[in-house]
Order: sequence, then C-alpha cells, then structure tokens
Amino acid sequence: MAQASQMIETLDDCFVKTANNIMKHYVEEERKKILGELRDVLKESCNQSARMIAANEIREQQELAFDPETKNVEDILTEYKEAISNIQVDSSEYSRLLEYDRQIKELVEANKDASNNELDVIDSDLRVTSQERNVIDPITKTRMVDPVRNAVCGHVYDKGSLIAMLQKNKNTRCPAVGCTSTDYIDLNQCRTDIVIKMYLEKNPA
Ligand SMILES: [Zn+2]
Repeated sequence: MAQASQMIETLDDCFVKTANNIMKHYVEEERKKILGELRDVLKESCNQSARMIAANEIREQQELAFDPETKNVEDILTEYKEAISNIQVDSSEYSRLLEYDRQIKELVEANKDASNNELDVIDSDLRVTSQERNVIDPITKTRMVDPVRNAVCGHVYDKGSLIAMLQKNKNTRCPAVGCTSTDYIDLNQCRTDIVIKMYLEKNPA
C-alpha cells in the first residue's frame, strides 16, 4: 500500500508539471480547454482509485459475512457484482484533486507574476521567478531541498528534516511560527510542493 501511495504521489506531481508546461505553451481558450481535459483525467484517476477501495471493502465485508451453509459461490458473485455496480463516488471531495487545484492556482499566480514583470526575461523552462518565495525550512532554518506542504495547516518544511524530526519524536506539532494547528504532524498529509520545488531549482542558492 505504501508503494501504491508513492506511485500516486509521483503521478500527481506529473499532473502538476504537465499543467505547468501547458500554461507555458498555450494561451487563453486553448489553455483553458487543455487544462480542463487534464483535470478530467486526474478526476477519472481519482474515481478509479475510490472505486477500487470501495470494491475492496465490499469484498472484505462479504468475506466476513460468508456462511457456506446458506450461500454458494454464484450467490456471492451476483451479490458482489450488484454491490460494485452501485458504488457511488463523489469526486469533489478528493484530496488529490483539491491539492491539484491548490497547486494550479499557485502556478497561475506565478505565471501571471512573471508575464506582468517586464524586466523578467521570459524563461522557457519555468516562469516561477519574480515572486519571492519562502524557501527556509522552519525546522533547520536552512534552505529547503525537498519542500513538502502539510495539508492540515499549509506550512512547508524540508522533507528530510521533517522525517528526522519525526524519527526523534513522532508526536510533534507543526514548528512553524504562529501555526494554529494542534494536531501532531502526519507524514502522510505532507506532500511535495511542486511550485516551491521548481522555484528552488530555478533559483539555486
Ligand atoms: Zn503549521
């Protein structure tokens, strides 16, 4: 399962990078159309994952309720098929999609900043340049290498120092100054922040 979520994370990063490329190469209506299509693909991927999880739950329930005295394999299959055909998923709730939308919003802002700033030479690689970003890790107070964003409070840390900190004490709260979250940091809620990551690559120390 850990491997599967790693795969999904890599996939989602690709979606954001692809969106960034689309923003660089297309404008206005065409950009909107292609970005819409890309989002539909991600939504479909979310739907598929949700269906798989739901189907698994149905199977587990069936296994628990299985009574060889009263049911044969055919009954079980019929029940299973009926149950999975009735699975309803609500894509508006997907955290993957919400996170994607958040990153896209940032990319749009970053691209807007860059095109508004006439002194900025248009960069064919990445136009996340003009807006100053906070690249200092709140844990080590040094420049981040692999920025991850905590979905719970929105603060960003370096992944390496976060893992090291959690290894010392897994019940640690967000160390960012002024953070109002009282939850312990959950590594599973911390995802690569593509926009800051690209900014770091674009602006080496
Ligand atoms: Zn925080």
